Amino acid sequence: MDPTDGKGNAGTIRWDVLTIGHLSRNKFWGESSDKAYRSPRCTCTLIRLNERTIIVDPSCPPEEMIRVLDQRTGLKAEQITDVFLTHFHGDHRYGIEAFPDARRFMARREIDHCRGQLPPDSPEGLLLDRLIPVDHSLTPGIQIVHTPGHSEGHSSLVFDSGGLTVVVAGDAAMTRDFFRARDYYFNTTDPEAAVHSIDRIAAIADIVIPGHDNYFLNQRS
Ligand SMILES: [Zn+2]
Ligand SMILES: [Zn+2]
Repeated sequence: MDPTDGKGNAGTIRWDVLTIGHLSRNKFWGESSDKAYRSPRCTCTLIRLNERTIIVDPSCPPEEMIRVLDQRTGLKAEQITDVFLTHFHGDHRYGIEAFPDARRFMARREIDHCRGQLPPDSPEGLLLDRLIPVDHSLTPGIQIVHTPGHSEGHSSLVFDSGGLTVVVAGDAAMTRDFFRARDYYFNTTDPEAAVHSIDRIAAIADIVIPGHDNYFLNQRS
């Protein structure tokens, strides 16, 4: 079965990883958490469902984002209808200005939490004002699941694709190694919640698209 094609009631979902992310430091490679070894890049995914073209976590600077979108899908920036942020860390919204006309979504809890932290007239505060808060569903067929711990209001997207449950986990699952070890990243705000979120994803996912790695199978027994 081709896992990138699926038929559900809401229509056929196609998903493509646009950029495979990596970490600034990876303890599973023997690296220290105390310094950055490289600039981080997050994993960016495109989800297509009916007329919606949804970028999750635009990872590159805008010009590069547009180039990558073309290289990976042949689509132009104007064809992107929506952007969803799993959380508000800078590396997960780096390329958002590549899509000035797209609707921009983030979980209400993450928006509310960030509002309390950021000056309203800062660039981040102004960007936050442009985000549309969502709670349980991005569109019929794509669920939003609250996966806190890495950040207060972190959320993941869940959908069916070809009979398989795909979880776009963002930084609730940093990499395959972090996920399988039920481990969290050094900058996690609530470690206990982070581990609980990994357990939740592990209970439902067939395929996990992590925050900073290629997608992988969740081997459930
Ligand atoms: Zn993050
Ligand atoms: Zn990240």
